[in-house]
Amino acid sequence: LHLRKQFSVGSALSRAGRQTVQAVDDVSFQVWPGETLGLVGESGCGKSTLARCLVRLHGITAGALRFEGRDITHLGSAALRPLRPRLQMVFQDPSTSLNPRRRVGDLIAEPLRVHPGPQGSRSAGEVQARVRELAELVGLRPEQLQRFPHEFSGGQRQRIGIARALALNPRLVVADEPVSALDVSVQAQVINLLADLQERLGLTYLFIAHDLSVVRQVSSRTAVMYLGSIVEIGPTDALYAQPAHPYTAALISSVPVPRVSGAARRPRILLQGDPPSPLNPPPGCRFHPRCPAATERCRTERPMLQGLSGGRQVACHFPLN
Ligand code: SF4
Ligand code: MG
Repeated sequence: LHLRKQFSVGSALSRAGRQTVQAVDDVSFQVWPGETLGLVGESGCGKSTLARCLVRLHGITAGALRFEGRDITHLGSAALRPLRPRLQMVFQDPSTSLNPRRRVGDLIAEPLRVHPGPQGSRSAGEVQARVRELAELVGLRPEQLQRFPHEFSGGQRQRIGIARALALNPRLVVADEPVSALDVSVQAQVINLLADLQERLGLTYLFIAHDLSVVRQVSSRTAVMYLGSIVEIGPTDALYAQPAHPYTAALISSVPVPRVSGAARRPRILLQGDPPSPLNPPPGCRFHPRCPAATERCRTERPMLQGLSGGRQVACHFPLN
């Protein structure tokens, strides 16, 4: 197995319009082939920006992004084009990315028409055969391919979005809140589908959610993001059982107990205030204004990610364990 997929993003800046917003700052982590890395954090913490940096929908102004051993940080769109098929995204609300006037079969065929296959452009018959194969893979019936997106439920539309993302045989699928807009029962179906596809196709996922119980269910490792930085990362079970970062502990304590099966009941840690603006982050530890354990040192010295035992890392001067 020579496949080695590694991402490290140093300081990644994303440009929103003319304003440069440092939404992701000094983030460094790897996604290993075949794993699901969960990424959690409050809305506005930079999760989506990070996702878009990873698939290079956003430019990166500093740092390094490596994909399968290759530095893709500064590749222009022409150089990125051959890599696009291998880096795909699934979005929260597929209806915004699905043209309402096109039939589902056409929508799934679109990436196949835009990107030539290894043997050049595909014939109409090849495209049609692949579309049917993809529909079956995600649990859509052939006759449904003639319909329009609005005729489908939210869960089915997400299946269409997944079929589109899988059309070109990606290696990494970045799923940005793929089930957040769905009812809980439908969430489970889509999560099971993603897990099944991962096993059958050997996919690697970066799975982003603000719902900790969803991430716990799907991820072998979990990364916690706060104000543009990863504050803790490690194997999901260990991280949930014994969070090392005060922010992780607060997040986990806010999950209603019945949904986190097997977890001991723990007192809820209430965070003070709202997250500060990423445009003007506090000095020192970015979490210090809200941290129950903050000291003078936290106000001036920024903690870097440091290794703990068991493949865990935490960015805190006073880890909880
Ligand atoms: Fe809290 Fe200090 Fe750790 Fe930041 S470094 S999380 S303020 S204890
Ligand atoms: Mg988001």
